[in-house]
Amino acid sequence: MAEEICPCCGGSGWQRVEGTGAVKHCDCLSGRRIERLLLEARIPKRYELCDLESYTPLNPSQTCAKQDVLRFVDKYPLVEAGLLFLGSCGVGKTHLAVAALKHIIIDKGDQGLFYDFRDLLREIQASWNAVSQTSEIDILGPVLDAKVLVLDELGSNKPTDWVRDTVAYIINARYNDKKLTIFTSNYPDAAAEPGNDLATGSPVARVREESLTDRIGHRLRSRLYEMCKVIEIYGQDFRREAKIKHAI
Ligand code: ADP
Repeated sequence: MAEEICPCCGGSGWQRVEGTGAVKHCDCLSGRRIERLLLEARIPKRYELCDLESYTPLNPSQTCAKQDVLRFVDKYPLVEAGLLFLGSCGVGKTHLAVAALKHIIIDKGDQGLFYDFRDLLREIQASWNAVSQTSEIDILGPVLDAKVLVLDELGSNKPTDWVRDTVAYIINARYNDKKLTIFTSNYPDAAAEPGNDLATGSPVARVREESLTDRIGHRLRSRLYEMCKVIEIYGQDFRREAKIKHAI
């Protein structure tokens, strides 16, 4: 599709300042820049329309989470720590992480990048096997350099030594450079232990659930505490609820 030509500058990027002989950058340049930044951020199509306005809190934890994100984007870039969203599947962690990233790009004009952690590891692995270590840098470079990075689904890969080393490398490099990272994870902060049924009081043979620490190790978990504000969200799977409502 042909690019629309700006009626103010005719595509030159320069605009006359009325009443003077001076020229200034045309406003369309910042619009084009933001379009480019959004494109380069690699936000998945499924989440392209996610923003804070379209996030409807359904319980107090979701109200707090939305408020935390609002505060974060308002204060940005004067924020010291990133965000770590924890909660089960479908409670809106990725939605809120993308909303924060989009606000930073659109309202603050800063650059950011979205990566699903499983895709990132797959891409690193593929480049490692196929070509050489230099192509690995092509993938890791933008991840390390991004001003704001969203790493979705932290801990979802089988925690092999290679996975842990790679996670540690990325997290430590960004930590040392004081770069902001927004993580999401489906793993709880503390593992649920076998216990008693709250309704009947009888023991339940609950399988011990793995925690984020089990998946990424103690050292990285404590590094995340330093790097991020933890936002725990609980609730039902929104997708499932929406499907049920739709079917009624
Ligand atoms: P998670 O990352 O926690 O697994 P997602 O952010 O992927 O969940 O949410 C699943 C879908 O439900 C997405 O399409 C998201 O936009 C939507 N969604 C989740 N929670 C909400 C909410 N509270 N308000 C509006 N949409 C929501």
